[in-house]
Amino acid sequence: MTTLLIATRNAHKVAEIQAILGTGFACRPLLAEFPAAPIAVEDADTFAGNALKKAESLSHWLAASLQAGGSQDGRPTIGAARTFVLADDSGLEVDALGGAPGVHSARFAAMESGRDGNSPDADNNAKLLRLLVTVPREKRTARFRCALALVEFFPSGDGQKEPHLFDGACEGWIDFAPRGKGGFGYDPLFIPTGRDQSFAELGEDVKHGISHRAKALAGLREWFGRSGGK
Ligand code: IMP
Repeated sequence: MTTLLIATRNAHKVAEIQAILGTGFACRPLLAEFPAAPIAVEDADTFAGNALKKAESLSHWLAASLQAGGSQDGRPTIGAARTFVLADDSGLEVDALGGAPGVHSARFAAMESGRDGNSPDADNNAKLLRLLVTVPREKRTARFRCALALVEFFPSGDGQKEPHLFDGACEGWIDFAPRGKGGFGYDPLFIPTGRDQSFAELGEDVKHGISHRAKALAGLREWFGRSGGK
């Protein structure tokens, strides 16, 4: 069993990654388990750049933290299984908005008010609908993108290997109103190509078969299969 420490505070992402990868991987929510871990500033202009930043900074922090005192005082406990830090940076690109919100997807609504931090999903969705109010169906094309950065974690802190990057995209369009209760983020507004329902209506089995995250994770799984994770 391979352990993946998922570098996110988003519980939905951890659940999706675990559901898609299945039982060969144990996915642990790194930032929920280790609340002292620093949050990387996501200031890169690509999804891959942000994913790399999150994976590398958390892997370094974990090693330093373990060396500073093992598992006492709430410091990380890492078992014997081979362990990797996995970061997911993802978001929505809307063609009529020149690719926005893109890397700013999580904080799309807050950007307007100059506030820091992520915005509630409902606020992001409301802003997106407002910006697209006059845009007709045929110009509402969009895609989700997901970049994954995988870094093997060595408790000794040395011999850090090259990170591996995987990506995936899912094409679709933005509906005129939210539909459905499943998923998270922009799922209620996103209709994948070839479907009539939003990701939030289609449910997780369908979403996990076709999503940007599923495609990026297929690359990761292939890499483990090909190289044995080396
Ligand atoms: P990140 O945590 O910086 O990668 O932010 C990703 C943001 O993109 C999330 O907060 C969501 O708003 C959006 N997003 C990413 N993946 C999905 C998805 O699968 N469904 C819906 N929204 C998503």
